Amino acid sequence: MATVEMLEPVALRKGGGNGFDRREGLPEGGSRPGPMEGEGRRALVCRACRTAITRPDLAMSVNGAHRHVFVNPHGMVFELGCFASARNVLPRGPKTGEFTWFPGYAWEVVTCAGCASQLGWRYTSDRGGFFGLILAALIEEDRP
Ligand SMILES: [Zn+2]
Repeated sequence: MATVEMLEPVALRKGGGNGFDRREGLPEGGSRPGPMEGEGRRALVCRACRTAITRPDLAMSVNGAHRHVFVNPHGMVFELGCFASARNVLPRGPKTGEFTWFPGYAWEVVTCAGCASQLGWRYTSDRGGFFGLILAALIEEDRP
């Protein structure tokens, strides 16, 4: 009664396929949409000096609308468009919460960095901010 133990090293590999089936990351190439499709095609520029200020795709809604019409204490009517960001504008403090057109937001005047004409207001609050730009002061342009 000889006991012969045969070792079969290859047997251990059977059925142990777990752990090698990688599914993380690396989607099939080519189907990922570009991050900012159409970026730079259209710009909103200062009507007076053509400095680029913002883009149509940065338009956003505040209190349920993109466009807001306001009358200031001097009787001037402003049609504002709300934008998530703007560039080439200079804040002209002081920032104030008085007479704000958007409750909860403080405002400061912003002017064009190119020609110093007033383009609108920057509104800020503890939950973020936006730009209310005077639509009549901007024109839409194609950008090369
Ligand atoms: Zn300008």
